[in-house]
Amino acid sequence: MSADRPDADLLIIGAGPCGLAAAISAQRAGLRAVVLDAHVVASTITQYPTYVRFFSAAEKLSLGGLPFVVAAEKPSRRDALAYYRAVVQHFGIEVRQYERVRAIEGSRGAFRVLSRTRAGDDRTTPAGAVVVATGYFGSPNRIGVPGEDLPHVTHVYREGHEAFQQDVVVVGGGNSAAEAALDLWRCGARVTLVHFGPTFDKRIKPWVLPDFENRVKEGSIGVRWNARVAAIEPTAVRLAIAGAEQRLPASLVYVMTGFAPNTALLRDAGVPIDPGTGIPAHDPETLETAVPGVFVAGVVVAGLDANKVFIENGRHHGDRIVARLTGRPVPPPPKLSAELDT
Ligand SMILES: Cc1cc2nc3c(=O)[nH]c(=O)nc-3n(C[C@H](O)[C@H](O)[C@H](O)COP(=O)(O)OP(=O)(O)OC[C@H]3O[C@@H](n4cnc5c(N)ncnc54)[C@H](O)[C@@H]3O)c2cc1C
Repeated sequence: MSADRPDADLLIIGAGPCGLAAAISAQRAGLRAVVLDAHVVASTITQYPTYVRFFSAAEKLSLGGLPFVVAAEKPSRRDALAYYRAVVQHFGIEVRQYERVRAIEGSRGAFRVLSRTRAGDDRTTPAGAVVVATGYFGSPNRIGVPGEDLPHVTHVYREGHEAFQQDVVVVGGGNSAAEAALDLWRCGARVTLVHFGPTFDKRIKPWVLPDFENRVKEGSIGVRWNARVAAIEPTAVRLAIAGAEQRLPASLVYVMTGFAPNTALLRDAGVPIDPGTGIPAHDPETLETAVPGVFVAGVVVAGLDANKVFIENGRHHGDRIVARLTGRPVPPPPKLSAELDT
């Protein structure tokens, strides 16, 4: 580092697809970009269900124009992990993995980003501007009941084999709950889905809903609508349904209630967070927050609404940020796949 030039013109926090895309945009504009990630590159995708396929076509997940070619109709989780590793190598993106950012200090042109490595070393990286692209996977929406931290309870669904011939409860009313319930049943589990609402959320994937409804109709999967989890015990889940208590046997419990972005970094840096929507105060054109020089990119832009920003559109955020930094015109918003553009 020279005395008059920061380590990074743009320091990007989060090496998910949207953080990596921002790094490519910056590099193309001649800016030095450095990406820090608390885990590994694309760590959110490592936590997807093992055998899941993306709903987006590969082309819509590609970054910087590097072709993402797969033989199947839609890429698998492994395809995507291989592709994003290739992206880092191809574009020579400077990524420091396993280094969690703890604070953003300073102001435009002279930020100091404080981080800690996995080995426990504290680092300070000077940066001209900062992008927060921290996603939301690290912070599941907890249901806040006794027993939620027991070892047989998980907030992340990987695969169903572990539940073969077991009584299991899936909590939630969205896609992840429906898909987990179906996969668990197909792996030989005895499944009951519990949701506090009267039915599934509106945005359930159109091809998942009939599959689930037919399994319920034939008695393969049980459901408890309008049911609240009161407590999770080592071998059962206690429910409250219309004032009455019910006990469901469960040796495994899957709490599929989604994730919320962790906005503590932004808040501590002085960016107001809307208490209702969870959206960090920012200019939607340029993605610059209320703190000049601090930007948001990727799903963190949409606050608590997980159905607004995906890789498909978040991968273009970097272009807007770099346009702001370089004074070029801001590009128009991208077109989403028909499934997402509702
Ligand atoms: C099962 C599943 C299927 C999906 N399929 C699709 C699809 O087909 N198409 C699509 O467009 N989207 C899809 N999505 C959504 C997609 O995964 C997200 O939109 C995308 O991951 C968001 O990218 P991001 O870069 O904003 O954040 P993330 O990918 O979540 O990356 C954020 C990164 O920030 C890091 N981080 C967090 N805090 C810190 C910190 N303090 N310091 C340093 N690093 C930090 C994390 O380790 C993480 O690596 C799917 C999601 C799921 C769960």
